[in-house]
Amino acid sequence: MDRISSSKNAPMPSDGEVLQSKLDALIRMAKLNEQKQSNFQEYELSLFNTNGLHQLLAIILEQHRTRFKLSDVTLLLLDPEYEFRRLLDNSAEVPVWRKHLLFIEDKSTISQYFSVLRKPRLSSYSPHIHQSLFLDTQSLQSVAILPLRWQDKFIGALNLGSRSPNRFQSDMGTQFLEHLAAVISACIENSRLQENIKQVGLLDPLTGINNRRFFEQRIEEEVTLSHRNKTPLSCLFIDLDHFKSINDTHGHQAGDIVLKEVANVLADIMRTSDVLARYGGEEFVILLANTDRNASYEIAERIRKRVEDTPFKVTNKDTLSVTMSIGLSVMDEQSDIKTTKQLVNAADQAVYAAKMSGRNRVHHAD
Ligand code: GH3
Ligand code: MG
Ligand code: MG
Repeated sequence: MDRISSSKNAPMPSDGEVLQSKLDALIRMAKLNEQKQSNFQEYELSLFNTNGLHQLLAIILEQHRTRFKLSDVTLLLLDPEYEFRRLLDNSAEVPVWRKHLLFIEDKSTISQYFSVLRKPRLSSYSPHIHQSLFLDTQSLQSVAILPLRWQDKFIGALNLGSRSPNRFQSDMGTQFLEHLAAVISACIENSRLQENIKQVGLLDPLTGINNRRFFEQRIEEEVTLSHRNKTPLSCLFIDLDHFKSINDTHGHQAGDIVLKEVANVLADIMRTSDVLARYGGEEFVILLANTDRNASYEIAERIRKRVEDTPFKVTNKDTLSVTMSIGLSVMDEQSDIKTTKQLVNAADQAVYAAKMSGRNRVHHAD
């Protein structure tokens, strides 16, 4: 009886009304799709408009998650020769997104995630399989693993994780995700090439270490960090002693061999956080982050001694010994040195003083 009375109270909708509500639902759906589409297009544009590898990775690893309401996004790159890692290491600060970037040296490590290395793999989250691909492993419910390919080669995977179990399911269409993977693959490859070209311009062709231009960029970053973190920053100017006489006596090629070998010795002593560059001719420069006056003096002495003790083999029969003069300046809270220019000038004057007082020594700027 109830049903009869209720149907009396709520009259059946007319055909027109049914049609209208269906139409409303369709319009809502179309609007939602349009929003999704424009959100994706905006994202795609931002990927195309990056000014380098760092910015691209920041967009993929930070914006992607928030824009598409995901819980975790990581990027795994196949990097057998450590190329990406080298390209990314050339910066003073480690960005927050860095921990979302994973590297493998061998493609076989990833093959367990795909039946074919071509199609995105959508599934519920399984700690056993996916744990090593994500950071937010506590709350994930479903995941999409998108293989990234470039010119038919596997280059990595974009891993999307959601807290919703329905977000990624194995029976869903993957056309949109395949398009996304293709766009991201192309952008990564493009940025990698660009970054390589940029960095070739920052390397010294003779010694393979960084050049003065690189040093000038990095010292700005290091000075800013030193002020911000209130940590000391030391600068070492190195000038080889009587280098001209090596060229004059043994020839220009022998001089080149010495420069290369000195660069190797310096690079060998440096920590990864230190900056080493060939400043010009037979001059090198080193920046020691978070290193105070005493510690940098010790390092400078160690360098000087190591080079003094190294025999430089320049021809089959000739072995030379080489010495260097080192000027040292330190920027810390006590010192009057506050700017890049002051730090560089002080080290330059200190190396001059080291020469004047007899060479083969470390001189500290006052
Ligand atoms: P000092 O102890 O006062 O520093 O004497 P020095 O002879 O080292 O100083 P000077 O600046 O007069 O000479 C530097 C020499 O380094 C002159 C230049 O021909 C040589 N030189 C600069 N660049 C290169 C290079 O790339 N290869 C070689 N072989 N020699 C170079
Ligand atoms: Mg010189
Ligand atoms: Mg010299």
